[in-house]
Amino acid sequence: MRKKIVAGNWKMNKVFQDAEELLYDLSEQIEDGQKSSKVEVIVCPPCLYMEMALDLSRNEEDERLFGVGAQDVSEHAQGAYTGEISADMLSSMGVEYCIVGHSERRKYFGETDEQVARKVERLLEEDVTPIVCVGESLEDREAGRHFDLIRSQVEKGLFGFKQLDFVKIIIAYEPIWAIGTGKTATPEQAQEVHAFIRKVVEEKYGKEVARNLSILYGGSCNAKNAAELFAQDDVDGGLIGGASLKAEDFVTIINSFK
Ligand code: PEP
Repeated sequence: MRKKIVAGNWKMNKVFQDAEELLYDLSEQIEDGQKSSKVEVIVCPPCLYMEMALDLSRNEEDERLFGVGAQDVSEHAQGAYTGEISADMLSSMGVEYCIVGHSERRKYFGETDEQVARKVERLLEEDVTPIVCVGESLEDREAGRHFDLIRSQVEKGLFGFKQLDFVKIIIAYEPIWAIGTGKTATPEQAQEVHAFIRKVVEEKYGKEVARNLSILYGGSCNAKNAAELFAQDDVDGGLIGGASLKAEDFVTIINSFK
């Protein structure tokens, strides 16, 4: 079912004590009812802090305050892959979500659409929900190639799955030129690409699947501009980088849905 979602991608930020403080602040503010129950909140800290995040994602009555996600996963199921973390490790800890194909992984670690597809497959096998990132560079946009590129990322990364599996996936549209730059896509630009992604999905999996797909916007989304972005018909929430590192800002973003 199409959900409103706000996910925080901490990236490689926060030493242990700062991570602990942020998680405490988030739990407290969400527990105090500062979050609408209609929004699924997801926190994606570095894997080292997963256990702490999972502990603090539940209150004393063991009610779930937010979901916890990883920032990446191995494309392999298990074995001699030093430094990697597998989908079954994540699921065995209670991690519910995992970001895949973030532009920083594509750029700095050479991640390809084919690897994205394998990672998504591993996650689906373990019932971890993939949040799959697609998005164009400034160069691609200026050359008018962005629709073709996004279509290709979606098709290569996600169209090898049966409908039954595809429906578990969340897509995040993250224009690379907007990530960490303070240069947000306009609500109209975001809406245009989100509607395009939904159309591409509809061509392959049909109207019902496309209608139920959650598509998040990411790229300098913050406490000031979230409401306008989230008000767009095809924007179902956000994947938030920098602004997820302050509890107050993140909670303001969570409460930005009309
Ligand atoms: C991200 O990296 O997923 C992201 C959206 O970053 P920022 O919000 O900092 O642009």
